[in-house]
Amino acid sequence: MSKSCDTTDEIQSFKFDAIGIIESPYQEKFAIPRQPNLVSAAKGKVVLVGEANNHELVRDIEQFSHLWLLFVFHGTQEQGWKPLVRPPRLGGNVKTGVLATRSTFRPNPIGMSVVKLDKVVTEKQQTVLHISGLDLLNGTPIIDIKPYVPYSDAIIDADAGFAQQQPEAGLTVEFSKKAQTDLAQYTQKYSELALLIEQVLAQDPRPAYKQGKTDDKIYGMSLYDLNIQWQLITLDTVLVLNITQVNK
Ligand code: SAM
Repeated sequence: MSKSCDTTDEIQSFKFDAIGIIESPYQEKFAIPRQPNLVSAAKGKVVLVGEANNHELVRDIEQFSHLWLLFVFHGTQEQGWKPLVRPPRLGGNVKTGVLATRSTFRPNPIGMSVVKLDKVVTEKQQTVLHISGLDLLNGTPIIDIKPYVPYSDAIIDADAGFAQQQPEAGLTVEFSKKAQTDLAQYTQKYSELALLIEQVLAQDPRPAYKQGKTDDKIYGMSLYDLNIQWQLITLDTVLVLNITQVNK
């Protein structure tokens, strides 16, 4: 291989190590909101790792209320990518260029989310950023963190095509008697569990082709170490049936 070829290869290929790992209530892709800040009760952590686990890297970061997290879509990475994808916002049956979407199936499986920074804690030489509003799977590798800077990052009159409006969180969420008893058992451990379940289900996590349709299927979703079963009982009401602990 010629010298110039080597140089091109070096320029076009990059290797990054994770600087942090996400701890999130979302244990599987199903029911994760499609963007951050739709579920404010979703609280998680960025646990800094390797050489980045050094409190000096985050000195003064608490001056910023929000952060950009750049991460790897590790849960779908092995499935590769496609030039055309079907965004759920278009009902899941219209194809669009992958770079015109926030799809996970991109040439470089890199995601970006703005999250709220609640606090930074360093204990026993472990630095942890506590965040909320995240849309990330548990275990997501973080490759960079940057402060969110509204004067430049927020363009309030920007055109956003098919994603102009925030998706409606239109469903009402009710808890069965059994689910209320279950909730009481777990709220000591997860104080905002009811709110988290409500906010997640209000988004209607069902696949795009089921949106706006009745459905008698019983669904299960995983939050923390819990399995939550629920069912749509009217076009706009979800009933939480029960909450059980999953043995890991
Ligand atoms: N806010 C990010 C962005 O715009 O790059 C992510 C948007 S993407 C549409 C959000 C979805 O990614 C979530 O609903 C979840 O299903 C999926 N997701 C989150 N973390 C993931 C991970 N580590 N691996 C694969 N998929 C993930």
